Amino acid sequence: MLKKELQIFTFNDLLNHFPFRHIDKTSISTIASINFQTEYVQIVGRLLFVEVVGSGRGKRMVAMVKDKTGELELTWFHGVSYIQKNLIEGTDYLIFGKVSFFNSKAQIVHPEMEVFVPQKAGGKIFLEPVYPTTEKLKSKGINGRSFAKLTHQLFSQLQPTDIPENLSVQLLQKLKLLDRATAYRAAHFPKEEKEYEEAIRRLKFEEFFIAQVRLGLIRLQRHRANKGVVFEKVGNYFNEFYNHHLPFALTNAQKRVLKEIRMDTAKGHQMNRLLQGDVGSGKTIVALLSMLIAADNGFQSCIMAPTEILAQQHFKSITKLLQNTQIKVRLLTGSTKAKERREILHGLVEDSIHFVVGTHALIEEVVQFKNLGLVVVDEQHRFGVAQRAALWKKATIPPHVLVMTATPIPRTLAMTAYGDLDYSVMDELPPGRQSITTVTRNEMKRASVMDFVKSEIAKGRQAYFIYPLIEESEKVNYEDLMQGYEQVKSFFPDHQYNIAMLHGKMPNELKEANMLKFSSGEAHIMVATTVIEVGVDVPNASVMVIESSEKFGLSQLHQLRGRVGRGSEKSYCILITGSKLSNEAKERLQVMCATNDGFKIAEKDLELRGPGDIEGTRQSGALNFKLASIVNDKILLELAKTEADALLNEDMDLNLESNLPIKKFLLSEKGKTGWSKIS
Ligand code: ADP
Ligand code: MG
Repeated sequence: MLKKELQIFTFNDLLNHFPFRHIDKTSISTIASINFQTEYVQIVGRLLFVEVVGSGRGKRMVAMVKDKTGELELTWFHGVSYIQKNLIEGTDYLIFGKVSFFNSKAQIVHPEMEVFVPQKAGGKIFLEPVYPTTEKLKSKGINGRSFAKLTHQLFSQLQPTDIPENLSVQLLQKLKLLDRATAYRAAHFPKEEKEYEEAIRRLKFEEFFIAQVRLGLIRLQRHRANKGVVFEKVGNYFNEFYNHHLPFALTNAQKRVLKEIRMDTAKGHQMNRLLQGDVGSGKTIVALLSMLIAADNGFQSCIMAPTEILAQQHFKSITKLLQNTQIKVRLLTGSTKAKERREILHGLVEDSIHFVVGTHALIEEVVQFKNLGLVVVDEQHRFGVAQRAALWKKATIPPHVLVMTATPIPRTLAMTAYGDLDYSVMDELPPGRQSITTVTRNEMKRASVMDFVKSEIAKGRQAYFIYPLIEESEKVNYEDLMQGYEQVKSFFPDHQYNIAMLHGKMPNELKEANMLKFSSGEAHIMVATTVIEVGVDVPNASVMVIESSEKFGLSQLHQLRGRVGRGSEKSYCILITGSKLSNEAKERLQVMCATNDGFKIAEKDLELRGPGDIEGTRQSGALNFKLASIVNDKILLELAKTEADALLNEDMDLNLESNLPIKKFLLSEKGKTGWSKIS
């Protein structure tokens, strides 16, 4: 029963089934004190009567108890005859349960009852644990409180050595942590509130710390195991470009990250680096400069984008940047014509092509390189693990991998979800960027929004109108878009304005043609679904109108907004909403209006949705903490990370005497978490 309902198989599982609250058993309330705020209550009352009422499915048992201050109703729906047999009218009971209201009258459904023995009350405080349980277990008489009997029994039989310490004495002392056995005992049966808090702190720290040590070990062992190609030097390709063709000065963040990549690729182990940067922080140029270093060392590079449009755009901007250099760049996508494709495949094997930009097409078996040294993956969350793995099998010594995120994720999340990777952050935008003014507008006010868009177009700017993409129903989605298109058209008549459209179902050539129409400035307006979301770069566009914006997630809104504000002109994002908004939707839109900072938005997203749902993270066990939370326990996580790094720096093989406990623990836990490489 426990197995099936709660996945509790062993004593260890039972130990780790933590109570969600404790009840001070000595504290007894009066019936009169119960009000709408009361959650759980413990009273002592005399049982006046018990009776079964109703029949069939409506059958239930009702009892009335009374203390000096009033009367309270108790109700049971299951196990009626068994419970009835054991209740004796006229007896005083200690009654505990969750208060609910029925017709504004307080009652307790399925209360826990035991005959009241006066000496039990008073004297020492006894904090009794209440455990999470399920309806099914409750109906069998195993409620959250009777669980306590099980764990109590367990603890009475356990020796402290049954819960061996896994942290070093030094660490326990330094951080003033409870020892492990005490912490477990106190998490279930604390002597007092303070001891409980300390126990929880210790156990949360342990969870984070073990996870960080484990991730660190994976990272270090990969460094050791995966030999990587060595980029010994920075040579002419890089220097030429850097000194003569780079159209702007790098930001400090770009310089720092480039240095990190430079160091990492020179060491002889394979780089597996996640580059996090906000929309527009200039990740592409960092990738390009890294690719030039690869070329300087005789290696080829590829850059893989999630969509055809993006691959083309990368190709175009990279070709432009490299136009006066000797570097040979090609584009390989699903729609590359057969002849050109053969040419490219040949060139890659021959090593006459330095860089290839592409889509998933790059992963196919037939694509072989003479000398692949660096793989750049843009907007990483769109690719699966297997796809990335396929890419780095394309060379005998695995190429270095640089994964660039589309939108930032909070540091705490990155630390846990990607702790096994090398990790760089670009937390600075190129100078001169103006913040994008963001407002919400009710759909009833659409006409004034359209007037505003007209005034921007009159100034020579361009605008996007985005419609939500509802994946389950592509048809509705398409109709929405068509309706939107007609609507936009009704405000912007044909003879005055050009409108381009883009959606996922379009054939590639049409997509491309329409995108070109907009990027060349021929079309004033782009009406699109979220296919436009990632990476598209049209600096002259200054207005982003998002229809039904309440249907979008935060990171998506931020990503969409990032399509404007890319040029020197002041830009605007208008979030159109329906009239009925959930509180969470309101909060999302408020965040969007309040800040342009992608890292802040990501933090808020994490807060609102919890770690499981954040885009761009792996669904790995890395986030499954029992007690700790990466949202609420950030400081503890930072502490665990610092300590784990320090430990591994000093003793990555865990050979020191002081590290034997943790080594033993990790070995005993081996195989419990299946982290896999992401690239
Ligand atoms: P993202 O990080 O979103 O991929 P991009 O690499 O597309 O950003 O860069 C956004 C824009 O900023 C591009 O037009 C790029 O040329 C420009 N850019 C990048 N770095 C700098 C810089 N240091 N100074 C000025 N402009 C820059
Ligand atoms: Mg980009």
